[in-house]
Amino acid sequence: MTSFSIHGVGVSSGIAIGHAHLVSNALLEVVHYQLPKHLLEDEVKRFSSAIATVKHDLEQINSSLRKNTPAEISAFIGTHLMMLADKSLSEIPKDIIRNEQCNAEWAIKLQMDDIVEQFEQIEDEYLRERKQDVIQVVERVIKVLLGHPSQLSTEQQSNAQHEERKLILVAHDISPADAIQFKQHQFAAFITDVGGVTSHTAILARSLNIPSIVALQRARDLINDGELIIVDGGLGVVIVSPSKEILAEYKLRQEQWELEQQKLQRIKSTKAVTIDGTNIELFANIEVPEDIVAVKASGATGIGLYRTEFLFMNRREMPDEEEQFAAYKSVAEAMKGATVIIRTLDLGADKQMNPDTIVTCANPALGLRAIRYCLSEPLIFHTQLRALLRASHFGNIKILVPMLSTLSELRQTKLFLERAKASLRKQNIPFNEHIALGGMIEIPAAAINADAFAKELDFLSIGTNDLIQYTLAIDRTDDTVAHLYNPLHPSVLKLILMTIKAGDKLGKSVSVCGEMAGDAKLTKLLIGMGLRQLSMHPSHILSVKQQILHSQINELSANARKVLTHTDIEKIEPLVAKFNLT
Ligand code: PEP
Ligand code: MG
Repeated sequence: MTSFSIHGVGVSSGIAIGHAHLVSNALLEVVHYQLPKHLLEDEVKRFSSAIATVKHDLEQINSSLRKNTPAEISAFIGTHLMMLADKSLSEIPKDIIRNEQCNAEWAIKLQMDDIVEQFEQIEDEYLRERKQDVIQVVERVIKVLLGHPSQLSTEQQSNAQHEERKLILVAHDISPADAIQFKQHQFAAFITDVGGVTSHTAILARSLNIPSIVALQRARDLINDGELIIVDGGLGVVIVSPSKEILAEYKLRQEQWELEQQKLQRIKSTKAVTIDGTNIELFANIEVPEDIVAVKASGATGIGLYRTEFLFMNRREMPDEEEQFAAYKSVAEAMKGATVIIRTLDLGADKQMNPDTIVTCANPALGLRAIRYCLSEPLIFHTQLRALLRASHFGNIKILVPMLSTLSELRQTKLFLERAKASLRKQNIPFNEHIALGGMIEIPAAAINADAFAKELDFLSIGTNDLIQYTLAIDRTDDTVAHLYNPLHPSVLKLILMTIKAGDKLGKSVSVCGEMAGDAKLTKLLIGMGLRQLSMHPSHILSVKQQILHSQINELSANARKVLTHTDIEKIEPLVAKFNLT
């Protein structure tokens, strides 16, 4: 097989060598073809065997679900099994194959379209939405028919575990809700055709601490299932069917990379202090309570951002107060008194509860997201605030509010918080009366008005992912504009500086919890600009700490001042690179 390479945007460094596992977008791939009469019964058999495989897979998944998996997920699988057993999906397509003399994929898709149309007539919204289950089940069957299993087969799963992370996930696109499920699997790398550097999918890929590349355009079409590939996350290159020589070279590079990572382990318990004694707080970002294991291994001294929305994904029912309380409490307790900053729900835009939700608004990133959503759903917000307050009794929890743009949103949030507190007092349920309330500064309007926010908040946390998106008008999930997404844009740097100054003036702490915080190439600049707290994925803590250990505050401040005198990215980039070498 001839070797070739594909270039994309690297979002997580490292080298992986393994076999491709294609995740397909099966419904888009179905083609229609006619079959001669004498092959029709074989086609019916092929169809029956696909149904049997999906049934077997679903049963396997059901029995392998972990105890703490939300009940809704196993209920889903139960529903899917029932639908699969129904004649309309398991028998009628056989008649279609025979009558229309068509291929099995086409037959089940025709039948699906028919069922979906019937569902669409239903008045009851809940029942109408069941059509998504039909689509998902059919998609599974089609994937099997096309030879792209959607789930790892049990055999692949056990091979992957034995072969220690040798499978590389290749997808056209993956929603954050899908990606969170991959945390359970041991993939060697993760590559997609689309996506931006700070899309939530990329952030999750990074949190898996495996090499990953997005914006590869046609990787999903060009790579075959099972093909040997090399992923170089640092360079953003995928090499397909490498020659022996290239393979040997990359094995060597992989060993060197691993050696460097091991060396970094030596500073795990060293405090993040500059040469002249300035202490920098290095916190971790997490998505699910299970991430605490990685936090502990990283030497992070607290949690700077717990993205709670992931608890709400891949399910149809919201988690109730008890479930949320248990999750927040477990994180607070595990951190044993260290700071745990929990962000209230940031659903919307690319983070939807159900991955099949079709976003219908024109500009989801500018829509009903985060705090806007919470304020419009009083019951959901009240439930989360009660759960957070209850958990605050068991550790050092602080609350962080995402996407603030106006003071009135902040004031409404405070009223909600007071109401939640009052309801707990009434029931004599203990909580921290003085719980700190912070705000994300991630909309330019909030950064420009940071003084006013700092006055009414206990701390500020700069969400650079969204701040860059909204300042530069670049959709963070869109690969076609990913090359324009630049954290060193002078306007972005100015907004960060304004926020730092606003916090300093009022004695309120300011941190960065966007992806900029975890980029070791930006550490010296951020510290030079005055930041003393950074929160990032646990896998970045050590490389950032290494930068800090070799820094002198005076020098960094002078360098940052020089950088900030420039108004042109082309001047800023080389200057930042030069200062990193000193
Ligand atoms: C950010 O926007 O920088 C941030 C940390 O929040 P999220 O990535 O979850 O939007
Ligand atoms: Mg954000």
